[in-house]
Amino acid sequence: MKIIMLGAPGAGKGTQAKRIAEKFGIPHISTGDIFRANIKNGTELGNKAKVYMDQGLLVPDELVVDLVVDRLKQADCEKGYILDGFPRTIPQAEALDAALLAIGEKVDYAINVEVADNYIVERMSGRRACLNCGATYHLVNIPTKVEGICDVCGSEIVLREDDKPETVLKRLEVYHDQTQPLIDYYNKQGILKEVDGRKTMSDTFEDILKILD
Ligand SMILES: [Zn+2]
Repeated sequence: MKIIMLGAPGAGKGTQAKRIAEKFGIPHISTGDIFRANIKNGTELGNKAKVYMDQGLLVPDELVVDLVVDRLKQADCEKGYILDGFPRTIPQAEALDAALLAIGEKVDYAINVEVADNYIVERMSGRRACLNCGATYHLVNIPTKVEGICDVCGSEIVLREDDKPETVLKRLEVYHDQTQPLIDYYNKQGILKEVDGRKTMSDTFEDILKILD
């Protein structure tokens, strides 16, 4: 079972990916984890990636694809895997398809966790963080015991710059520009599945299970 997860930042894609991975006993693979592991282990690919990351540059598609394909060859991926945060671009998607084709495999599903932008903005504007100890809260879902005060250290909690509506909207715009072509790409292949990410985590997960069954 080879699955690609798509979904806007804040749509809950990562959480769903983790649950699918647990349920089916397949690895949840995120590019961030692959980068960290390769850099930590000082692999050749990791060292190459580090040069770009240290300069605050995007790691080029070719190198990202090499890192991901290398990871997919590991033994734990035999039964399948779930890719989270990759591919991000059409060239990455095409390179992944080509690499899989070369070993007689293909992606089975691209699952898009669909949540309207205004809903994501609303959800994220409820986030609060403690800048002192790093604890995170949500006004509705994870409230503090005392309003406005961190449970852990007693500092004041704040709405981070990253979670402010204008920042979130900008990030969503970038996301849609980048991802809409991918959605079209997998739709043409007939493997795109959409689920409603506005439901509870559990209900969205149930919808995903129905697709995978
Ligand atoms: Zn705190």
